[in-house]
Amino acid sequence: MELTEEELKLVEELTGIISEQDKLGDESPKQELEAIITEKIYGSKMVDKRVNIWWWGLFNEGECPVCKEKIEKKGGEYLCPKCGLKIQAELYDKAKEQDNKEAELDEKESKLRKRMDEIKLTKERINEIYSLAMERSEKIGKKDET
Ligand SMILES: [Zn+2]
Repeated sequence: MELTEEELKLVEELTGIISEQDKLGDESPKQELEAIITEKIYGSKMVDKRVNIWWWGLFNEGECPVCKEKIEKKGGEYLCPKCGLKIQAELYDKAKEQDNKEAELDEKESKLRKRMDEIKLTKERINEIYSLAMERSEKIGKKDET
């Protein structure tokens, strides 16, 4: 398949976005935080349980993901005065940073999708662009590991 200049540019930009997303997936302080919240809600034996955390509320409104009370920063941790949820401030900050980056990347990606619509790419073409970009970002990921 021949790619036009515009399509090549899209592949390149998408590759950048996907490899950034992959990197975020590896660090994942949000997952660590999710485990703490899940344990608080269901107890330590239910770690397989999935909770739907409203990250935006936690990071922007300081809302406790367990009971919705406002959390307070005390020394090196965030504390919920109602349910007693404790989050290390360092982990909180890292997870917040990850959340911001994810939102940024999501926005970049949706802008890219809009451009694809604007130049009227077919679904097949979009799929091809995505698989090319994923292939390339995998290669970048492997290079980073070595
Ligand atoms: Zn709480």
